[in-house]
Formats: sequence, C-alpha cells, structure tokens
Amino acid sequence: DGLARLLEKWLPPAPKVPRPTKKIYGVDEVRAAIANGELINFYQPKVALATGRVVGVETLVRWRHPADGLVFPDQFIGVAEEHGLIGDLTRAVLYAALAQAKDWQEAGLELRVAVNVSMDNLTSLEFSGLVTGLVAAAGVAPQKIVLEVTESRLMGDLRTPLEILTRLRLKRFGLSIDDFGTGHSSLVQLRDIPFNQLKIDQSFVHGAHANETIRAIYLASIGLAKQLGMEVVGEGVEDLADWDFLRQTGCDLAQGYFIARPMPAADLPSWMAEWKAPGAG
Ligand code: C2E
Ligand code: CA
Ligand code: CA
Ligand code: CA
Repeated sequence: DGLARLLEKWLPPAPKVPRPTKKIYGVDEVRAAIANGELINFYQPKVALATGRVVGVETLVRWRHPADGLVFPDQFIGVAEEHGLIGDLTRAVLYAALAQAKDWQEAGLELRVAVNVSMDNLTSLEFSGLVTGLVAAAGVAPQKIVLEVTESRLMGDLRTPLEILTRLRLKRFGLSIDDFGTGHSSLVQLRDIPFNQLKIDQSFVHGAHANETIRAIYLASIGLAKQLGMEVVGEGVEDLADWDFLRQTGCDLAQGYFIARPMPAADLPSWMAEWKAPGAG
C-alpha cells in the first residue's frame, strides 16, 4: 500500500458530475455566425499580484446563437481552424477588441487588451500587416495589445510564424505564449520566437500549492520565464490559496474565476469599481 499511496497523486480525481457531451457545430453554421456578426467578445480581468490592480483583460470569444444561447469557443474554434475560417474569426474578434480598447482608453481606463491568436493565423506574412493596419486604424498603441499565441496541434515549419511574430514584436505588440506546458506550446517556441510574456496553463496553477508535482512544474515554469526576462501570468486562479501562492512565488499577473469570470465589456467598469484585491487595505 506504500505503492498505492505513491501512485495516488497520479490518479485523476473521480469526476463530480457526469460531463455532458458537447455539441460541435458544423462548418457552415460557424461560417454564417462569423458573417452575421453573431460572435461577441467577453473580457476577463488580469490583475497585478504585487499591487492588486487590474492591468489588462483577455478577450474571449462567445457565440450568441439565435437558438442555443451563449456558445463557448471549444464548440467552434477547432472547426474554424480546420476549415480555413480562423482568419475571418480572428479579424472579427480583433476588430471588436480594438474598438473596445479605444473606448476604454477614452474613458480613462488604462488596460492592456489581449487577443487569442491561433498558429493557423500565422501561415501567411500578410497577417502582420493586417494586425498593424487594424491597430493603427483604431487609434490604439500596439503596446496596449497582447497577442496570446496557442498552438493546438503540431505545426511543421516555424519560419513563417517566427517572421510574423518577430515583425509584430518589433512594432511593440506584446507576445504571450499561451497554455505553457501543454499541447505544443513548447521550449522550441520559446527559443525561436521573441515572446515577452508566458502564461502558465491553469493545470499547473490551480492547486499548485497543495500538489508536489504540479508545484514543481509551476515553479520551473516561473523560473524559466524569469531567466528569460519574461512577464508571467498564472491562469486558473480559482481560490484564495491559489492567489496567495502565486503572490508568494513572484508571479506577475493572475487571472481566474477567483478574480472574475469573463464578462461583457459593459460590465467591466462597475466590476472594476467594486474590485478589491485580497490583503489590500
Ligand atoms: P485560453 O486562451 O486558455 O483561455 C482561458 C480559458 O479558461 C477561458 O475559457 C476562460 O473562461 C477559462 N478560465 C478563466 N479562468 C478560469 C478558472 O479560474 N478556472 C477554469 N477552470 N477556467 C478558467 P473559454 O473562454 O471557454 O475559452 C477556451 C479557449 O478557447 C481559450 O483558452 C482559447 O484557447 C480559445 N479561444 C477563446 N477565444 C478565442 C479567440 O477569439 N480566438 C481563438 N483563436 N481562440 C479563442
Ligand atoms: Ca488565451
Ligand atoms: Ca491559456
Ligand atoms: Ca486553454
């Protein structure tokens, strides 16, 4: 039973509720949703752990489906990536996020706005011109925009993505490596692409304080990012223990349900007015 105890931490906990099977939408429906403007952006705050201040938001797309209600990205992003729709989707999300960033700027809210970019967006050099053009037209400084890059499947040649991201970094866009430690968000990308922010995946954040293995991966990721001079974001901060642990271990920014769920843009100012970081006065 020594071995059983040893293995215990490797065994996944039994699921609390049976997971409902998720409907994955068809390509024609997703194409129409983009064309009809049914996608809307939600925004989730990111807080500086040292000061408790809200310093930015992540843009998370939702689909306001006429019949099914609010649909989450895992039910249509994969389809968009596989069927060549991710270019249109990213453009729509970015366009709306930039208009929102401009509104907040004019309202005196100092927020960096992050937008998710799929590796499938990075297959043609035109992407850097598109992004630069949209940002200039919106009247937003590139320093205010963070591109969170996720690699959901294995990519072949990294030369084109590398060139696009390097061009954008030279224009002062923030570049964040998303879901670090999972999928294909890897050391190769860290070596070859000038990221200035690292987002530790939520599976290495939530509960890191209580689990030796998770903690080791979390601490190694922070150490790596710090040695590379990168800003670190911990996502999946779900409770006070997560928050305290991140703060004690020198993580720069925190994001998660403990702080706030993703919300419509209109809800953000009142949420910010109410927000009080734990431990702050
Ligand atoms: P992500 O980029 O890793 O975004 C974080 C996800 O974790 C979001 O799910 C967010 O709602 C959720 N989350 C935030 N805090 C917590 C927490 O404390 N606990 C837990 N368990 N989850 C938390 P969401 O909005 O369903 O998005 C899922 C994924 O879909 C995103 O993962 C991203 O990869 C993709 N995605 C979302 N919007 C876009 C987009 O505009 N373009 C692209 N290409 N992908 C997007
Ligand atoms: Ca992200
Ligand atoms: Ca992530
Ligand atoms: Ca993710």
